[in-house]
Order: sequence, then structure tokens, then C-alpha cells
Amino acid sequence: MLLFPTFPWKSASAPCYGSAAMTAVIHPDIRPRINSVASDDLNAAERERIHAKSALFAPPEARLADGRRDLVGLSREELATLMTEIGEKPFRAKQLWHWIYHQGATDFSAMTTIAKPMQAKLAEHFVVSRPTTATEQTSVDETRKFLFRFRDGQEAETVYIPDRREDRGAVCISSQVGCTLSCTFCHTGTQKLVRNLGPAEIVGQFMAARDSYGEWPSPSADMPRYLSTIVLMGMGEPLYNYENVAKAMRIIMDGEGIALSRRRITLSTSGVVPMMDRCGDELGINLAISLHAVTNELRDQIVPLNRKYPIEELIAACRRYPAASNSRRITFEYIMLRGVNDSEADARELVRLIRDLPAKVNLIPFNPWPGSDFQPSTRQQLAKFANIVMDAGFASPIRTPRGQDILAACGQLKTESERQRRSATPEA
Ligand code: SF4
Repeated sequence: MLLFPTFPWKSASAPCYGSAAMTAVIHPDIRPRINSVASDDLNAAERERIHAKSALFAPPEARLADGRRDLVGLSREELATLMTEIGEKPFRAKQLWHWIYHQGATDFSAMTTIAKPMQAKLAEHFVVSRPTTATEQTSVDETRKFLFRFRDGQEAETVYIPDRREDRGAVCISSQVGCTLSCTFCHTGTQKLVRNLGPAEIVGQFMAARDSYGEWPSPSADMPRYLSTIVLMGMGEPLYNYENVAKAMRIIMDGEGIALSRRRITLSTSGVVPMMDRCGDELGINLAISLHAVTNELRDQIVPLNRKYPIEELIAACRRYPAASNSRRITFEYIMLRGVNDSEADARELVRLIRDLPAKVNLIPFNPWPGSDFQPSTRQQLAKFANIVMDAGFASPIRTPRGQDILAACGQLKTESERQRRSATPEA
């Protein structure tokens, strides 16, 4: 079941622009502008609707049962306000920021530049927490999967994928518990959306993963990092939880804390077109598109969000994406499903679709999971497909599945949180 029903005036074959009768009486010179105004209005209305739906799945307040507030996930301004509320000077926020996000401290008594009475006062009102690690599994290829449990008992998975040649690696972070989108090849998609994750829970996944590798204090910009990139490709559709994701990413990018460059963060979307512009304008992080099919007919089936935002609207939004350039290409993720989307004709159509974009293509061999009907493409077919894309001038690496033995590979994440879905959670 989709969370966001299709508007009656908008379908895969009829994008939402002005009617033919209306355009017939408009001077051709001003038609494009009027159409773009109409399109902007529709996007704004659509964004409002997405925010309203997102609010229905809001995370619980980041507060302990004893009333103490978690300081993780707050903006600098919010931290300063809290300091004022307990009768302290706002500059304390800067000190705390340093200890929380640069040093990785979770205990106020470790914050040695803060006087002991003040440490005690902070501990009386606040905590600096992490999600609990429910399980931690390490694959034979050193990929590590964490199942993190949050304060209300909900869980989400985070995966660290180390680079096998250098001391660096990507942390794949979840943005929701479950997902509404039901992409048919994705194990997570079989788990209903329980709720959105809050900023503390999103940042907390990264901080807890760094705890596991002891990577504190945050390395300076010119130093190597073991946990060197973030990919928002875990459970959930990040653009359906944009506000919380954006707040978490701003914290992670802040130069006086974790200080991870926007160039090292990639958000992967199935194509929530109205939110893509905002993400590019406000965060400027890299973009990845879960494309997986090159015709609306097939994509409607395997990525059902396509019925709402068809391929042509998605590609147009990629063209507008402000943070894309030749040095920061948009990644098109393409899961290779035997006999479904892996023909040479599909490869040629893919090339046609992305021909004028700064793009690269990640070809992902399908990772089977219990109950799935798909088969991975053969090696020969993968190679043929990759060659067509490469010959057209696009990098098209075939991704080596990582962490398969612990179900940590792409599309395999799923938790048991669904069983605990709160009865109060609204139905989609
Ligand atoms: S691929 Fe992403 S958007 Fe699609 S069901 Fe899986 S988690 Fe959700």
C-alpha cells in the first residue's frame, strides 16, 4: 500500500502541466514561463502534502523517561536556547558542540573544559546518547552490519562497508523504520513503514558506528578517515523524511564537529521529484537515483513510486539538480534482474535517457533474499550491459555484493520492528 495516493489529475502518462485549451490562447513566448510557474505551484503543493504525511510518522521526542533531553540531534541554535533555559550563557553551546561532535564524548564528566559544577548541572537536565546496539555482525568480507535499537524499541539497520584497498569506507544509514515504497526487488520494501527516524537517531547511527571503530576525535579535513563517506541508502526513502534527514546532515557537515564534507555524502532516492530541488539547493549533497528500469511500464511495476513521478519527470529533476557537475556526477543505481531489465535494448535506452547528464551508473547484481521471485542476471549479460553503457562514455562499474552472508547487501535490510508497529500509527 502506498502512503501517498496518486492525484486524480496526474498519472504516469499525463504529467501535470497547463491544459491544451489554456495554452491555445497564450502567446508562445510566455507559455514556458507560465507553465513553469504552474509546475512550481504544483511542486509546492506536492511538497506540502509530503510534509503533512511525513508528520504523521514523526519520531518520538528525544527525551528520557526521567525528563532529561538528549542533546544529540539539536541544531546549534537549539542548543544555545537550552543553555539559556537553564540559566547558562549561550556560548556553552559551542563548547558542548565540540565535545559531542568533535570529541565524541557521551559523558559530561569527560568534558574537561567545563567546570565540575556545570558538568553536574548538565547531567541533571540532559544526556548525550547513542542508539543501543542490538546486534553487530561482521561479514567474511569485513562489512559490518549494526542493528540499532532506539528509545521506543524500534530498530533500524546501518551498514559499514570498508574499502578493501584503503583505510576508508562508506556508512550506509537508514532514514526510516520500514518503508512505504514497496520496490519489488527490495527486502526492506516488504516491511511496512513504522515511523520516520529523528535527527538524533540518524546522526546517532553514524556516531555509534564510529564508536565501534574508535574513530574519535573527528579527524581533520586533511586526515584519512576510516568512516569516510555516508550513503543514505539504508532502510527508507530519505526524501519522505526530508526535514529530519536535512537536520542530521547539517550537523554532520558542520565544520566544528564531525565535519564531513557535502561531497562525501550521497542521498539515494527512488525519485521523490518535488523534494529533489530542495535537497540540492539546501544541502548540496550528492544524488543517487534508484532507477532500475528504463520504461515507465516496467518501472511502474518494480519501483511503484514511478506511477506518481514518471521517468521523464525524474530525469528533468536530475537535469535541474544544482549540486551535479562533471566532478560530482549523479549516480544511477540499476539492479540487474535476469530477463526483466537487463537486455541490451534496456542498456541502450538507459544511455539515451542520461545522455546529457553528468552521470555514472552503478550496476548492482541482485542479492536474493528469502521469498523474492527475482534472479540475478548472468555474468555475460551483466558484462554486455556494462559495455554498452561504458562505450557511451559513462562509468558503469559492476558492484561486487558486500556482506551477503549477513544480509547486509543492497536491498537486503529488514528488521523485526514491523511487528511492533504502534497501533496509533496512521494507516497509509
Ligand atoms: S529500494 Fe529503498 S525506497 Fe524502495 S522499498 Fe527499498 S528501501 Fe524503500
